[in-house]
Amino acid sequence: MTFSTQQKPANQPKSSNAGKVWLVGAGPGNPDLLTVKALRVIQQADLILFDNLVSEDIRTIFPKSVPAFYVGKRKDDHSIPQKELNSLLVKKARQGLNVVRIKGGDPFVFGRGGEELLTLIEAGIDAEVIPGITSASGCTSAAGIPLTHRGLAQGCTFVTAHGETELNLDWRALAQIGHTLVFYMGVSRAHVIKQNLCMHGLSGSTPVAIIENGCRKNQRDIIGNLGELDALVESQNVQSPALIVVGDVVSLAGKLKAMPELEELAQNCA
Ligand code: SAH
Repeated sequence: MTFSTQQKPANQPKSSNAGKVWLVGAGPGNPDLLTVKALRVIQQADLILFDNLVSEDIRTIFPKSVPAFYVGKRKDDHSIPQKELNSLLVKKARQGLNVVRIKGGDPFVFGRGGEELLTLIEAGIDAEVIPGITSASGCTSAAGIPLTHRGLAQGCTFVTAHGETELNLDWRALAQIGHTLVFYMGVSRAHVIKQNLCMHGLSGSTPVAIIENGCRKNQRDIIGNLGELDALVESQNVQSPALIVVGDVVSLAGKLKAMPELEELAQNCA
């Protein structure tokens, strides 16, 4: 495989001694969903810093010779505070290393990639973002749910169910906009999502999907309706990471999810 010569390889010697930081999106979990560019910079890194949303399957493709450290943030377990992480990125780049800072999904979608990039730019560090497939897109595709569909949804809205301090959402707008709504970090807020959307006019019979471990071997799709959203999270013991999708497009899941017998047929033909 060849690459454009206009693209500077990650480990090409630079005029100054400073290295570079790559903010890389790992996508939702399946290594096949990494971009070619992400794979290339991973293979040429001097140091890899990864989050908890970077799946095990992706971690196995990190070169064994490259030091890789977990710097993620699970709920109630911040292995390294964001400020210290920002300083670490600056320090390692100043030491001349090519640092791959890899995050689940896309670094600019609820991933604090903007904050890290700002710090790097302010410190005069060469930095570049490599987008990844955000989980709303990857997980819904894997569940057979189109984010938009003629006659069902003319748009989609990505929402975080966790605010820095309190959740400050315009629930009326969300309930009435007619979009597919995708809630990130929503599992522990399922009752809030249900209550507010219903209170502002969305019917309890609106289809919902909870997609757990999307695009991984253990993906689980739980389909139901808005009125039972919190009950489903509890009865099915939904674990993070999981997305909540609300909207009529969810009704297509049964028809569009790849059928195992067809997948088998495709594999036999390959
Ligand atoms: N930057 C990431 C989002 C980080 S916020 C992205 O673009 O996807 C973390 C939330 O993303 C999780 O709480 C969950 O709601 C969602 N998420 C990330 N990966 C997921 C996966 N493989 N399956 C389901 N949800 C996922």
